[in-house]
Amino acid sequence: MTEETPFSHIVNGDISADIVYQDELVTAFRDINPQTPTHILLVPNKVIPTVNDVSADDESTMGRLIVVAQKLAQDEGIADDGYRLIINCGDHGNQEVYHLHMHLMGGRPLGPMLTRKQTD
Ligand code: 5GP
Repeated sequence: MTEETPFSHIVNGDISADIVYQDELVTAFRDINPQTPTHILLVPNKVIPTVNDVSADDESTMGRLIVVAQKLAQDEGIADDGYRLIINCGDHGNQEVYHLHMHLMGGRPLGPMLTRKQTD
């Protein structure tokens, strides 16, 4: 039986989402709780739980995520100003949904990636 996740239901069309791109390897849809003017999630169509589970067989899928993110950034009009691609992994990475996904975030200056540690 194929493993199911909230995102695999979106990929299969069982749960509605604002899908902005889909091909034979990946699907992209708008985040339900956007943190930036553009906030799109890009997922492999097959369930890969985390970055730790990526294998050599997934190289074309992982590459496709980047190529599609670049295209969507162009489509969204944020490519020239820049944007951020994030893949959270596991507990310390604060991953909420265990179906690997890349966040495409932009549309405003995003500031530093993490709160800087106090050095004094
Ligand atoms: P994570 O913290 O795992 O990297 O990010 C999970 C993201 O998935 C969150 O930004 C959350 O808003 C989004 N999300 C969770 N469930 C759904 C859903 O059912 N539909 C959509 N479109 N986004 C979701």
